[in-house]
Amino acid sequence: MIDYHVHSNFSADSQSKIDEILFFAKNLNIIITDHYEVVAEDEKFKFNVDVYIEEMKKRELPVGVEFGWDGKSKIDIELKKFDFVILSNHLVYKEESTQKAYEKYLIDLYDFVDKIDDFHVLGHLDFPRRFSKNNEPFSKELYLIIEDIFKLILEKGKTIEVNAAGIFRYGEPNPSIDILKIFKRIGGKYVTIGSDAHKIEDIGRGIGKVIDILKEVGIHYLMVYNEGKYLLKNIKEEIV
Ligand SMILES: [Zn+2]
Ligand SMILES: [Zn+2]
Repeated sequence: MIDYHVHSNFSADSQSKIDEILFFAKNLNIIITDHYEVVAEDEKFKFNVDVYIEEMKKRELPVGVEFGWDGKSKIDIELKKFDFVILSNHLVYKEESTQKAYEKYLIDLYDFVDKIDDFHVLGHLDFPRRFSKNNEPFSKELYLIIEDIFKLILEKGKTIEVNAAGIFRYGEPNPSIDILKIFKRIGGKYVTIGSDAHKIEDIGRGIGKVIDILKEVGIHYLMVYNEGKYLLKNIKEEIV
């Protein structure tokens, strides 16, 4: 089983020790992707990159990161040093309506995808849905911006992750099934998958369900990291 979105205690919001993760996930293909957020006046979600890389290398693990940005702060991390970079937007948008907040989130996301080149996948695309009232889905009016984001991602030779965490909040991954259908229609052929586990017991959680959804949507390949290279693996071969 593959899980390319796992947090360890290098993230301020996780207590999981790397060795505990590895013990729990010994039969899994995982990449630890800790938070590194470059946002104004908040150093909480940062870690010592050299120490982090050393810890991963010591255990022969690929070096992953979940990188967040506010679009203005000076980026103080060299993303090229990482084997796997998830680009995520965790900013909180307060607007008069949920859809307006989603729109602002997407506009920023487009800008971040445009400006940042050193990433592999866009993280949990409809992420704010996790925290909005009744987990309101992104409205169809926003699909044009989402299409533009996907077009830009594919032009840049990148892809998206399908994040299982939403399933346990409201029954759908991030992004939702409808948004995954847009990705497929725009030409998206492969994705990565991740549980977004902040606790040991959540590692691998929901991955089987995500694979079922991908089959249903018609996305047949997963991007996997193998000995320094990326390759595509047919989803049918994935054992969950
Ligand atoms: Zn995230
Ligand atoms: Zn995460």
